[in-house]
Amino acid sequence: MTVKVKYSVIVPMYNEEEVIDHTYGRLKEVMDSAGEPYELIFVNDGSRDGTVAKTSLIAGADPNVRLIDFSRNFGHQIAISAGMDYAQGDAIVVIDADLQDPPEVILQMIAKWKEGYEVVYGRRLKRKGETLFKKLTALAFYRLLRSMTNVEIPLDTGDFRLIDRKVCDVLRSLKEKNRFVRGLISWIGFRQTSVEYVREERFAGETKYPLKKMIGFALDGITSFSYKPLKIATYLGFFLSLGSFFYLLIILYQRLFTSTTIEGWTTIVGLNLLFNGIILLLLGVIGEYIGRIYDESKNRPLYIVRETLGYAEQAAKAEAGRAEEQKLAGRDGR
Ligand code: UDP
Ligand code: MG
Repeated sequence: MTVKVKYSVIVPMYNEEEVIDHTYGRLKEVMDSAGEPYELIFVNDGSRDGTVAKTSLIAGADPNVRLIDFSRNFGHQIAISAGMDYAQGDAIVVIDADLQDPPEVILQMIAKWKEGYEVVYGRRLKRKGETLFKKLTALAFYRLLRSMTNVEIPLDTGDFRLIDRKVCDVLRSLKEKNRFVRGLISWIGFRQTSVEYVREERFAGETKYPLKKMIGFALDGITSFSYKPLKIATYLGFFLSLGSFFYLLIILYQRLFTSTTIEGWTTIVGLNLLFNGIILLLLGVIGEYIGRIYDESKNRPLYIVRETLGYAEQAAKAEAGRAEEQKLAGRDGR
């Protein structure tokens, strides 16, 4: 029989050729020291560089390594979700490929898991080597998200975390397309705890989250867990109408009972621009939600896999193991 995998480590990769060898080395060292069977699942999220070639080599040489190769870039959150679909372990760890999350922390996570926690998330005490802009936007985002939603999403945590098999199974049963994985994990519940760590500098290469992706990610986070933006639209509409109504009364009074003439052009154009801007903005907010409803309703698969590596080898090993066992059993029987 094959050995049952105890730990699965999921590594999403998008153009990470510069770091992959090093990441593999560090992860292997840490996971070897954990002393239980494990698998490293590298998910290639449509990289355009040598990431696949390098990972294939690693997977060919190390039976603990698997590669899930996407047909194109589907996004970080989806890559993580795919890794969870393929993971076989009792505890599943998600870690970035760029070594910003130190692999050594996984051992602390495992220790907490053994104490009985079902989710152990990494909490960033400090972020090294990231731009002030990134730090500030991250700080603002986590606080905005918290004020917008009822789900207890812990502050300053990324996707670096360990989850129990139970949590992984529940997560997989949530089929939503615009996935904000860390939020979903908080929403699921279970016994959760954290370990603290210092976020290192990226080992090499540059961030794969340009501003555009960051905004999309933030919108996914907010719209997946809250319809407060829609409520804000309602309130804003209400107060603006109320204000306009009173303003109307005032100018009506001035027109009928006083001799003041009201300067028209500037006011009209100004108000028009302001109100049209607000209306378009609120239409945009509604659009964000409708777009997401549209995404959900199409029912397309979350991702498309070009090929997987490491699984056939594993099956062959299992086959060999079974044959060996039968031989032994046969010998015993005689
Ligand atoms: N990533 C991915 N698909 C993407 C963007 C990023 O799989 O479309 C991976 C990336 O390779 C890395 C992780 O997600 O392993 C986090 O990305 P990155 O380190 O660039 O983000 P940052 O740390 O700057 O927020
Ligand atoms: Mg990073």
